[in-house]
Amino acid sequence: MDADANASGARVFAYGTAADEAREGLPACLAGFMRLCADGFAQGWHEANGGNLSYRMTPRDVDDFAPAFLPEGARGPWRPIATRGVTYALPRLAGSHLIVTGSGRFLRNVPTDPSANAGVIQIDPAGAAWRLVWGLVGGGSPSSELVTHLRGYDARLAAGDDCRVVYHAHCPNVVALSTLIRPDARTWTRMLWRSMTECVIVFPEGLGVAPWMVPGSPELADATRDLLRTHRVVVWSLHGIIAVGTSFDEAFGAVHTVEKTAGLYLAARAANGGAEPPRMVTDAQLRAVCDRYALTINEDMLDDGRLATR
Ligand SMILES: [Zn+2]
Repeated sequence: MDADANASGARVFAYGTAADEAREGLPACLAGFMRLCADGFAQGWHEANGGNLSYRMTPRDVDDFAPAFLPEGARGPWRPIATRGVTYALPRLAGSHLIVTGSGRFLRNVPTDPSANAGVIQIDPAGAAWRLVWGLVGGGSPSSELVTHLRGYDARLAAGDDCRVVYHAHCPNVVALSTLIRPDARTWTRMLWRSMTECVIVFPEGLGVAPWMVPGSPELADATRDLLRTHRVVVWSLHGIIAVGTSFDEAFGAVHTVEKTAGLYLAARAANGGAEPPRMVTDAQLRAVCDRYALTINEDMLDDGRLATR
C-alpha cells in the first residue's frame, strides 16, 4: 500500500492495482475495512491467514452497500450461529449485516481483492443464523472466529456500547510478552499503564487477559465474551489481541497502543538486564492523568491504597 496526500492535504490511500478505478464507488464502510486490513498487515500483525476483522454495518451502510448484494435467490443458505457443535441465539444482532474476513484468507489480500477475501453476512430475524449476501467469491466461509466476534458484539451491545468493530491481530510484542509473564489482568494492565502514560487514557478499564485456549473454541469464545463485557481490549496469551471499537480508528488505535507499549516494556526490561525497569509511571501519576481527562480508572488495578479497606 502506498500513502500519499491529495490537494487538500488529506491522506489518501492508493492500492496500486488495476481495480482502483472500479473502487471509486466503494461503500465507505468497505473502504474503511480494507484500510484497516492494509494498516494491520503493514504493522506486521497478519502473517499468512493470521488475524480477522468484522464490522457491524449501520442502516446507512446497508443502504449504500445493498446494490452490490446478491439477489435474493442467489444468496447463501442460512446457517446456524455455531462453533464446534454449540449453537447460539443473539437477538441483539437480529437483522444485522456485518462485513467479515474469510476463513483461511490473508488480511494482506483484502485491500487488493475484497470480494474474494471478505464477505457480508446477514443475521436472521431471530439472531440465530447467518447467510452470505456479498463476497467470498469462489466459495469459503467467514472467519473461524465468527462466533467469537458475534458474541463480542452481543456483549458490548448488552453493556450499552454501540460496538461496530471487532478486530483480532497477532501482535508480536504482545505475544512475546505473554511468553514471559503469567496471564493475569492486573499484572498486564499495570505493566502497560506504567510503561507509557497514554495507556491509561486509551484503556482506563484495564486489559482483559485470557489464558491459552484452542483458537476458535467455544471456551475461548466464552472467556472472550465475558471479558469484553467490561474491557475493550483482551489479550489472548501466546496468540494475540482481540479488541472492539465504535469505529475502525478506535479498534485499531487500541490494538496499536497495547502492542507498541508491550514493545516498549520489553525493550526497557531487556536494557535493564531483564529486571523490571526502575522508573515507571506511578499510581499517583495514573490518577492525575485520569483526573485531568475525567476518566474512571479501574481501582482494582492500583496499589496505592485508596480502597485499602476492601
Ligand atoms: Zn489468531
